[in-house]
Amino acid sequence: MPETTIEEFTDEARTFLDAHAERRPPATEFVWGQGSDEVSVFDERDRDSEARDAEEAKAWRRLRFDHGFGWIGGPEKFGGRDLPAAYERAYQSVEQGYVTPNMGVFTISLGMVAPTILAHAIPEVQDLYLRDLYRGDRVACQLFSEPGAGSDLASLQTKAVRDGDEWVLTGQKVWTSSAHLSEIGEIVCRTDPEQPKHRGLTAFVMDMRAPGVEIRPLRQMTGGASFNEVFLDEVRVPDTHRLGEVNGGWTVALTTLMNERASIGAGGGGGSGMFSPRRLHAMLEHFGLADDPVVRDQAARIYCDFTVAKWNNQRALDKIKAGGLPGPELSTAKLALTNNLKAYSEWVASVLGPRILADTGEWGTFAFSKLLTGIPGMRVAGGTDEIMKNIVAERVLGLPKDPGIDSTTPFKDLLVNSERG
Ligand SMILES: Cc1cc2nc3c(=O)[nH]c(=O)nc-3n(C[C@H](O)[C@H](O)[C@H](O)COP(=O)(O)OP(=O)(O)OC[C@H]3O[C@@H](n4cnc5c(N)ncnc54)[C@H](O)[C@@H]3O)c2cc1C
Repeated sequence: MPETTIEEFTDEARTFLDAHAERRPPATEFVWGQGSDEVSVFDERDRDSEARDAEEAKAWRRLRFDHGFGWIGGPEKFGGRDLPAAYERAYQSVEQGYVTPNMGVFTISLGMVAPTILAHAIPEVQDLYLRDLYRGDRVACQLFSEPGAGSDLASLQTKAVRDGDEWVLTGQKVWTSSAHLSEIGEIVCRTDPEQPKHRGLTAFVMDMRAPGVEIRPLRQMTGGASFNEVFLDEVRVPDTHRLGEVNGGWTVALTTLMNERASIGAGGGGGSGMFSPRRLHAMLEHFGLADDPVVRDQAARIYCDFTVAKWNNQRALDKIKAGGLPGPELSTAKLALTNNLKAYSEWVASVLGPRILADTGEWGTFAFSKLLTGIPGMRVAGGTDEIMKNIVAERVLGLPKDPGIDSTTPFKDLLVNSERG
């Protein structure tokens, strides 16, 4: 039993927040045409504002960490409080009542890379990075995908060659979210081309500011540029920064990917402000559709689906916070999120019609185009819908294994092979 009761801890959190943040004003009725009409799933800010916001977020994390709220469930030796998951939830619920910076810059850093460092790095490297990551002194990105390796990640070609106590990394990564804001990155490289593709990989923590690293922005169809291409030209990484065994990188990557699906699916499955029923209702009222039975039926269905996803995700998150491992069932959370977002964007497009295509300056209309153009990216990030369906089919439902894509084998033979497998 922790020495501090949850009530004492909650009081402590409230005292901290009262001293350092403004209380959030009570929610007012949503009024169509008032306030910002921005609706998007990705970061659409320019890179300067993004960097400024990241500094604000880092300052807030630092303050939280120094007051004992930076890593509530984490080990004490890294500055954590070692408290049960219920305490983290209690803090989050109190913090929601205050105005605090957007913590999006830490999604990959703390949701995926830090748990992997905790699970696979040597103690010296854990000491070097974990405290800094949770204190917001450093941000980490995930360097997995390559131009020829996304869904089939194990095909990646960026190579790491051993040179004494160091490894020399050369190759190209792509779609690296927040690389431009990161001090370190988790990277998976090919270390033995002779081994079967899953067995010749090794993972490392690398310095994103090291000589030989070049980061170039990628422009998305939404207009934003939250991703990057990262080119590596003989970048040196000490062997101490290896995660797991040499040629054991696949296991390390799986730790990160399971956490990625958990954080994308369970984090967003419940919808957000863009999906508030008040907003939906105000939109229907404004366009004179509030009594249209078809439109109302669709809106009700979307609302129910988001609500079901929200409670399912809460259940999955509670399991993880109680010490369970994120499992394949979380793939259903990511699929539910993307299905719901797709249904929502199609519904909004049918309500707004041509207003979504051209910017006439009318509030709350063209702004939705960023949501529409962003949602396909959500269906790809962290494992595409098709890959998620394969995982659910094979690992949750126990169906026969996907025959895979083999351009030399006719489709009918692939089906036969699959039945045999
Ligand atoms: C918003 C966003 C953020 C991202 N952030 C990062 C990041 O920070 N770090 C990082 O490393 N990567 C990141 N990615 C990359 C992401 O992981 C890959 O885009 C994803 O894994 C898909 O790979 P791909 O783009 O190469 O598509 P491909 O794998 O080439 O897939 C192309 C199409 O083929 C389908 N397909 C492929 N294999 C199969 C199969 N076996 N069965 C059925 N259909 C199949 C896919 O579903 C898809 O429709 C990000 C991507 C997005 C969109």
